[in-house]
Amino acid sequence: METLDFRSDTVTKPTPEMWEAIAKAEVGDDVYGEDPSINKLQELSAHMLGKEAALFVPTGTMGNLIAMLVHCQRGDEMIVGNLAHAYLSEAGGMAALGGIFPNVLVNQTDGTLLLDDIQAGIKPDDNHFAITRMITLENTHNRCGGVSLSTDYVNSVANIAKQHGLKFHIDGARIFNAAVDQGKDVKELLAGADSVTFCLSKGLAAPVGSVLCGSKEFIYKAQRARKQLGGGMRQAGVVASAGIVALEKMTGRLEKDHLRAKNLAMGLEKIEGLNLLINNTNMVYFDLDHEINLTIEEFISESAKLGLLFGYEGGRQFRLVTHVDITDLMVENAIEILKKLVEENH
Ligand SMILES: *Cc1c(COP(=O)(O)O)cnc(C)c1O
Repeated sequence: METLDFRSDTVTKPTPEMWEAIAKAEVGDDVYGEDPSINKLQELSAHMLGKEAALFVPTGTMGNLIAMLVHCQRGDEMIVGNLAHAYLSEAGGMAALGGIFPNVLVNQTDGTLLLDDIQAGIKPDDNHFAITRMITLENTHNRCGGVSLSTDYVNSVANIAKQHGLKFHIDGARIFNAAVDQGKDVKELLAGADSVTFCLSKGLAAPVGSVLCGSKEFIYKAQRARKQLGGGMRQAGVVASAGIVALEKMTGRLEKDHLRAKNLAMGLEKIEGLNLLINNTNMVYFDLDHEINLTIEEFISESAKLGLLFGYEGGRQFRLVTHVDITDLMVENAIEILKKLVEENH
């Protein structure tokens, strides 16, 4: 039985072309700046995202943390959403390692922070207050159901940041999904940002790695922060070579994942006892009716026995994510499995 792994787009395996690139990768010591594959990946990333320079990092978490460490001093604060990955899912790194104080605003269901909340959240220069130094937005917004933020909205936040002399970072783990969803070049979504992190290892299917982009001066400082965090990786061109394939070959196909997520959502919507909550880009969130006689643990394990894996999001909420290793047939099969399970236990 084939496993239908909808837990996340992080489960994607390298494509055949990536394995080939890995086998043939030219490598060198990247701490000396001598890995040709990493240098090429960084130049390509900066070019595609419309930034001056880029830095290959092991994870998106490290990319975000480096941005915070470069933009902020200890005791400075960062405006961030209460559902942001950087706030919720990065083990408090900003506070633990950067001494950075999160100024947490409420994420709206569309992934945004209200502009009025941001304005009101920026502290005046008064020695009672931490110094507000930066704003971070997430695009697409994972916990808000994969929703993408519009260029207009992102630009409005960039303008507020500029007016107040704040740094503006975008956690763009899935920024290429956002670009496809908005029908825009990824550069347009990032024009107002001082820095951006994106992941090669999610929907773009590379095995490892993220890239942090920004000005030359920012990346120069980011190199030291990466070293401090232990992220200088020597012959990591072995994996960066797969990242080049990810950028060249995988960004153009994300639309297919979005379409499959839509089909999946339409299928789930018809199942009585299962409530479709939200569907955006490559994500589908649903919850299980209380009248279904299955505990959370039973629902997850019974699905797994039938070959279907998905993410658990707390309460009776679950998440399915489409990606390159999910086919149309797998979407149909996933709907069938859920329908059978829910109907049998109604
Ligand atoms: C996955 C993710 C990250 C971090 O990525 P890792 O590579 O797993 O550290 C950051 N932000 C968002 C929104 C993510 O989904």
